[in-house]
Amino acid sequence: MPERFSASLQQKIEDRLRYYEDLGIRLFYTDRGPSGAGVASRQALVSAPPATSITEEIPLPKSLPKPAPMKAAPPPLVIAPPAGPSLFESFDKVKDDTLLKTREDLGECTRCKLHKGRNKIVFGDGNPKAQLVFVGEGPGADEDMQGLPFVGRAGKLLTQMIEAMGLERKDVYICNVVKCRPPDNRAPEPDEVAACSPFLMRQIDVIHPKVIVCLGATAAKTILNTTRGISQFRGEWLEWRGHKLMATYHPAYLLRNPPAKADVWKDLQKVMAELGLQLPKKSKS
Ligand code: SF4
Repeated sequence: MPERFSASLQQKIEDRLRYYEDLGIRLFYTDRGPSGAGVASRQALVSAPPATSITEEIPLPKSLPKPAPMKAAPPPLVIAPPAGPSLFESFDKVKDDTLLKTREDLGECTRCKLHKGRNKIVFGDGNPKAQLVFVGEGPGADEDMQGLPFVGRAGKLLTQMIEAMGLERKDVYICNVVKCRPPDNRAPEPDEVAACSPFLMRQIDVIHPKVIVCLGATAAKTILNTTRGISQFRGEWLEWRGHKLMATYHPAYLLRNPPAKADVWKDLQKVMAELGLQLPKKSKS
């Protein structure tokens, strides 16, 4: 059987396919003209002989999965808070606000006890005009050291998820409910959320994204002021302060529970449909 790819090219293809396999995607649509079009498995794409002659000059095949046909998004669902309005809902917009002003007002914040153990405030990072904002719960150890959100192992997975959507990190904005690391990575406490939330509100109001993706149960339950488990509303479109919001699993959870990546990928495909994003086109060979 003729050699199809060099070892390095084969490795690149393997890495790309392994990532999609992690997302639960095992079928790929190939586009090789009338004779070769169809569905291929990971194994077939890696080891099957080529339908036509292939040389090293041909770019790395982008074996991207064909997005599932998108259904029209159901009308936004409002999760009724268990008691009283969410403190987020009652927050008034700050006139002529900017991210810079918000950061300046935050200053070297000591508004809650989390300031005592932090190294760096993790304000947020990304495109100030992003259509898509990811909101996590709070910084971890890597984030606390670098002052940037989602830079540890979970952050790398988030980056892969963003890239799988056909975006780059610089296209989106990423921030957290609280800006300082809770000790031992515990969930932020209500007084800490209350002290920090005005700054998250100002970030969202300034950026005014089309879609907010809430990462993880704590962030989702905190923002939505609900006691319902995330599995009850994950992947549903919610209405929140005039924005469309979707909650999905936190990347750290996906590291512990890889099969859940397939659920998250379904959620992100809904977000892509809402934003009018399509997966990058496959290269024709
Ligand atoms: S978590 Fe927020 S409110 Fe608390 S000290 Fe840090 S920046 Fe201030």
